[in-house]
Amino acid sequence: MAADKACTKCRAMVDGATCSVCGGTDLTKSWEGQIFIFNYETSEVAKAISAPVNGRYALKIK
Ligand SMILES: [Zn+2]
Repeated sequence: MAADKACTKCRAMVDGATCSVCGGTDLTKSWEGQIFIFNYETSEVAKAISAPVNGRYALKIK
């Protein structure tokens, strides 16, 4: 988990060098908390963080 990086653009957790959600390459290890979005179309949490797809997101980017 310590090696996980989060996209600074869309907050998606990224496994690799490029964000699979938005294609961004600006990643950070400085994030706090994680949330899982399963129903982004109806999830209030997804709306709150503007999650474009289902997946794992960092709650807070430092
Ligand atoms: Zn992204």
